[in-house]
Amino acid sequence: MTQLLTGKEPAQAIKDEVAERINALNKRVGLATVLVGDDPASEVYVRMKHKAAATVGMYTYDHHIPGDTPQDEVEDLVRGLNADPAVDGILVQLPLPDGLDPDAVIDLIEPGKDADGLHPHSLGLVVLERSGGAVPATPQGIMRMLDYYDIETEGKLAVIIGRSRLVGRPMGLLLNHKSANATVVFAHSRTRDLPAITRQADILIVAAGRPGLVTADGVKPGAVVVDVGINRVDEKLVGDVDFESISEVASAITPVPGGVGPMTIASLLLNTVVLAESRIAAGT
Ligand code: NAD
Repeated sequence: MTQLLTGKEPAQAIKDEVAERINALNKRVGLATVLVGDDPASEVYVRMKHKAAATVGMYTYDHHIPGDTPQDEVEDLVRGLNADPAVDGILVQLPLPDGLDPDAVIDLIEPGKDADGLHPHSLGLVVLERSGGAVPATPQGIMRMLDYYDIETEGKLAVIIGRSRLVGRPMGLLLNHKSANATVVFAHSRTRDLPAITRQADILIVAAGRPGLVTADGVKPGAVVVDVGINRVDEKLVGDVDFESISEVASAITPVPGGVGPMTIASLLLNTVVLAESRIAAGT
């Protein structure tokens, strides 16, 4: 029987931990979100993040600004949040509308408030396997999920499809860490004969944003398949893998929706409280 790796239970375990840590701080913990434009999917994600924050006693500050806001005004907003003592974490919802430079905006976030773990400083700490910064929320959530379901990574061959700043690349780094000890292969849009590569994976993480990219013939019997993709097809949310056929061969698989998504949100909250604790400890 294929095991269904749902995100609900491990995400709740993280949220319970976050609520306890907020309680112990005796201080308001605040997460500011920046949403530029009216992308419906982004609006849904931001709303879900606010809702989840409320359940753990975290304050949220909602900055929803028009899609034609110029780059310098978006940057000024981030500078203001950097300086605001009520804000412990800043999340800029990606993607930004065309014409805005997301790297320039992300790079401006004070690393000590980088709730999504996307600032070069946060990512540098991940490269070096050092603690002290926020860890990108989606890959962190996936690591937590593997741990929750007792999925061994040591010595396993992990194939990651995707090499984005947000998901694929940090995912591979976390699995490569000495704390996980997987052997990691990155596949991407220029990879030749993708099924031949993915068929070798003990753990297959798919983060391409291409519905139906992986089918059963690209999956080794008994593999663990983590589907990160979120795609809207005929008004339905689907992942990047063909869930039905792969369920016949994989030992475990995440559903979409209800798999990685809740883990991403819970990890964002965890990052925010960790950053708040660090600021309190540093007296800033
Ligand atoms: P991205 O577009 O930045 O990166 C996609 C990556 O996939 C690229 O590195 C590209 O090389 C690779 N790719 C594209 N087409 C490919 C192909 N045909 N074969 C092999 N590789 C291919 O996207 P992203 O921000 O990394 O997000 C990926 C997906 O994950 C999207 O569907 C996004 O909505 C979803 N996502 C989900 C969560 C969640 O919480 N579940 C969080 C973040 C992103």
